[in-house]
Amino acid sequence: MKLGCSYFGNRILKHVRKDMEELRDMGCTFVVHTYNENDMMFYHQNMCEMVAMTQELGMEVYIDPWGVGKVFGGESYSNFVMQNHDACQMVSDGRAAGAACPNHPRFREFMREWTDQAAATGAETFFWDEPHFYVVGWVGTRPDTWGCLCETCRKLFTERTGLPFPTERTPELNKFQEDCIFEFLSEMIAYGHSKGRKNALCVLPSKDPEHSTANFGRMASIPHLDIFGTDPYWVSFKKDLEEFVGGNSREVMQLCEKHNLEAQIWIQNFHVPAGREQEIVTATDLIVSSGVKNIAVWGFDGCKHISWIRPGNPDLAWAKTKEAYARALKA
Ligand SMILES: [Zn+2]
Repeated sequence: MKLGCSYFGNRILKHVRKDMEELRDMGCTFVVHTYNENDMMFYHQNMCEMVAMTQELGMEVYIDPWGVGKVFGGESYSNFVMQNHDACQMVSDGRAAGAACPNHPRFREFMREWTDQAAATGAETFFWDEPHFYVVGWVGTRPDTWGCLCETCRKLFTERTGLPFPTERTPELNKFQEDCIFEFLSEMIAYGHSKGRKNALCVLPSKDPEHSTANFGRMASIPHLDIFGTDPYWVSFKKDLEEFVGGNSREVMQLCEKHNLEAQIWIQNFHVPAGREQEIVTATDLIVSSGVKNIAVWGFDGCKHISWIRPGNPDLAWAKTKEAYARALKA
């Protein structure tokens, strides 16, 4: 059983050490360290030291392009977006999105730089975290809009389909965006693989065809992928716990068996309302019973340090996370 936890929000090494010891003591075998654009620019050496410290304590490190270009999930801003307005996604209201376009050559080039730097930290595995095109409802998006309608996407769409670029969402556009995300990830994962690292992909738990990664089977077929999974955060998505966590776990298991991959499922301990902390244990039990042997939780200390997503009772949420992990290790 592999157990992991995300870690972010602190780069003060004496505190990091204490926290890594706590993760080791609760049975974690890996840590997902976020490595956002701020880390890349201003904290690189600290990140190298954090990675080494985690490994010295016997845990593996996954490195996460957290919020990079705002193409990946994560509560961090993007300097690339600020500096490259002409490489951003365009939205149907005629304004740019606060997110890079995964099809823009300059963003692809930047992601290769990110990959170089992330590999240089010494992390063993790239963790490609919730890649997506513009999704309404995320921070910084605008109601009743869609994207991307940038020049790069328009040109590619017409070249490939022979159709004029649509004026509203169509099945052809959904398929085009799926192809584009598949190609973008294929390029990044092949590049990560060429650096001798493993690749883990975590897709959003959505089957809405407007979500570019909704076709799990296609995403799991990306060459050089080692680990595939999703993060069925039942509280955030307002879903039935058993159906959402159990269903996604079973589906991911089946796909991973088919493609010879390691299955990974994420547990939510953030944003859990007070009184519902036991659900963290229930969710973990469901994942274990589905046969998934790589389980991770978002995130350290029940996310008490990030008030945007802090649970109602963070200390209890964290205690329940530890209880859940102890049960998983005994299963
Ligand atoms: Zn675009």
